[in-house]
Amino acid sequence: MATIDYLVVGAGLTGSTIARRLADAGRDVLVLDRRSHGGGNVHDTTTPSGLRIHTYGPHYFRCSSPRIWDFVRRFAAFRAFSPQIQCRIGDRFEPWPINRDHLGQFPDWKPPTSSVPPIHFEDACLRKMPRPLYERYILGYTRRQWGAAPDSLEASLARRIRINEPHQATLTPQHRHQGLPEQGYAAFMQAMLAGIDLRLHTDFQTSRHHYRIRKKLIFTGPIDEFFGFEHGPLQYRGQRRVHHTLPDTTFAQPCVQVNHPGAGEHHPIRTIEWKHLLPPDEQTAVTESVITGEYPFSPTQPDQFEYPFPSAENRRLYRKYRDRATSTPGLMICGRLGEYRYLDMDQAIGRALRLADLLLKEPGTSSSGPPP
Ligand SMILES: Cc1cc2nc3c(=O)[nH]c(=O)nc-3n(C[C@H](O)[C@H](O)[C@H](O)COP(=O)(O)OP(=O)(O)OC[C@H]3O[C@@H](n4cnc5c(N)ncnc54)[C@H](O)[C@@H]3O)c2cc1C
Repeated sequence: MATIDYLVVGAGLTGSTIARRLADAGRDVLVLDRRSHGGGNVHDTTTPSGLRIHTYGPHYFRCSSPRIWDFVRRFAAFRAFSPQIQCRIGDRFEPWPINRDHLGQFPDWKPPTSSVPPIHFEDACLRKMPRPLYERYILGYTRRQWGAAPDSLEASLARRIRINEPHQATLTPQHRHQGLPEQGYAAFMQAMLAGIDLRLHTDFQTSRHHYRIRKKLIFTGPIDEFFGFEHGPLQYRGQRRVHHTLPDTTFAQPCVQVNHPGAGEHHPIRTIEWKHLLPPDEQTAVTESVITGEYPFSPTQPDQFEYPFPSAENRRLYRKYRDRATSTPGLMICGRLGEYRYLDMDQAIGRALRLADLLLKEPGTSSSGPPP
């Protein structure tokens, strides 16, 4: 039995940020992760040829908050990188996101004015763009990504669809800082956790009775799994990733990520060419290229849960788990899987910094022993 003030389950950005702040404040903290590596879903590996592959899909860092930007640069130097993404439609590569020039092709179209909020994802999209653009770029991609009809998905999902200005060619031009850690995310996360006791290959679900927690259990895994799926499982989507090494290839596609909105089920929905992430002088030194194809599916193994499913039914189910968590003393459930919401990296860090502030302000919390 290990006795500890703060037990953090999950060494992803949420758990590691909270652990770092607690350790910086001199608190007694232990971090567990059931995977063989820390870093959670931002983990990466490097091929012998020098290409850096993001294990759980491409991760482009961006933020505008000075607090978050200062925090991340404590652990790594960042190289400026603004991802360009294109859609492959038939034989053409077209820019993504679309921009106001695309809307200009439909001079008679005006965004519908309504005092009623959009009722679902498709409705929300059609308030941003004319139907032909929606059908060309979004309809097929969405059906494939979620395995569901767009009118069964929450309207809030459309907030992620941006219309660029004509001169903007990158994915998220609105952010002040965009980049990649120079030595990769794995090194960045290792530096964040330096000096903190981290136990890998340790599943809290099966080892929870080995810990006596004096102040707080901070759990960043799936909230439904934590409670033994007692109200039923929440739905997630994941991606199967198939890697192809292409010898003697300068580049196989024009940019790091190509979306394939019209591709059939047996073709990837996105292809990632990792060489585009390298600085130009390093790109020329690598003679091969690696392309990863992503195929969406509905995972049943918690380790494969990637995207919380944006539907009203899942939102209701999540609230039941959240109420259970908030009424359990000594427990904080947070992060992408704990709060069942998609969080960009900067949002995950920002939220974790705020939660750590709250923990540090708490008067000496007494332990109620491990929650169920
Ligand atoms: C495909 C994909 C692409 C993305 N791309 C971007 C991007 O380009 N830019 C961006 O800003 N954000 C991106 N994100 C978001 C980013 O991945 C998240 O912000 C980040 O992962 C959140 O970190 P987290 O710590 O909350 O969760 P995670 O990284 O999932 O960490 C949770 C950790 O908890 C561990 N764990 C769970 N249960 C247990 C248990 N019972 N016992 C022990 N350990 C456990 C897991 O093993 C995991 O390591 C992307 C997300 C996905 C899914």
